[in-house]
Amino acid sequence: MIRAFVIGHPIAHSRSPLIHGTWLSTYGIAGSYEAIDVIPEALPALIARLRAGEFAGGNVTIPLKEQVAGLCDRLDPLAETIGAVNTLVVRNAELRGFNTDFMGFLGNLDQNAPGWSADLDEAIVLGAGGAARAVLVALRERGIGTIHLLNRTLDKAQALAAAMGNTVHPAPLDAFARLAPRAGLVANTTSIGMHGTGFAGLALEHLPKTALVTDIVYVPLETPLLACARALGLRTVDGLGMLLHQAVPGFEAWFGVRPEVTPQLRALVEATL
Ligand code: NAP
Repeated sequence: MIRAFVIGHPIAHSRSPLIHGTWLSTYGIAGSYEAIDVIPEALPALIARLRAGEFAGGNVTIPLKEQVAGLCDRLDPLAETIGAVNTLVVRNAELRGFNTDFMGFLGNLDQNAPGWSADLDEAIVLGAGGAARAVLVALRERGIGTIHLLNRTLDKAQALAAAMGNTVHPAPLDAFARLAPRAGLVANTTSIGMHGTGFAGLALEHLPKTALVTDIVYVPLETPLLACARALGLRTVDGLGMLLHQAVPGFEAWFGVRPEVTPQLRALVEATL
């Protein structure tokens, strides 16, 4: 039986076992996917079990993503750029690390706002943490010419912009009103929005009427940012689809079937939020 896991600490809240467990039964695969609570000190022992062939691979979540990246035999170039691994695959006793968050971000927008990147020249990314790296890689993949990276701590936006190349321009959060009129996309990658917290004074009304606003926070599903955008008549995409789509490449690598993100799967996970 093929076994896979999600590791992190804490791990009880993870929706990954529900997602992968649903796919295992949908596709009639005799496999398992379990949540294992692993503190940073216990990671080497878990990696040894993985190398010994106990598992085909697994997902990695907070606080292990960066630490795992340093333990892989081979890193996918995008995982290297992002500096974090969320998906592990064992092949021929070799430990390979991937970051599928950027695919999750793209898969979510492609499914829920088809054609979103076709005429997109300028985008605003809010936040300069780990998730922002994956979103910047995603936007770079789609050839977006100008990306404004706005963050509370300007130093961090400057460092990340320098690492990502000359299409990314750092700015403080209060530059939003000035930059908004030319932005076709706003992506929130900060943790603001969790548990109903909101941005103070983000002037969404300056965005073009055609702009798309997306949030990668998915608890609550409709963050105050998305609620405000929707009230202004702007298109919105919530962050739950990113979680569902980032799971696809791992499942395919471990169990050999490319799974589908269906409305039924989404409804199952949404019921747990
Ligand atoms: P992180 O590395 O800790 O970065 C947090 C970011 O939020 C930083 O830019 C930080 O700004 C900003 N921030 C936090 N509190 C703020 C405040 N009160 N005012 C202004 N800015 C604030 O976290 P992360 O790993 O990037 O994750 C960010 C969020 O994305 C989390 O909520 C996570 O759950 C979510 N996420 C969702 C998915 C998905 O699949 N949908 C995937 C990955 C992450 P400073 O630099 O100024 O501190």
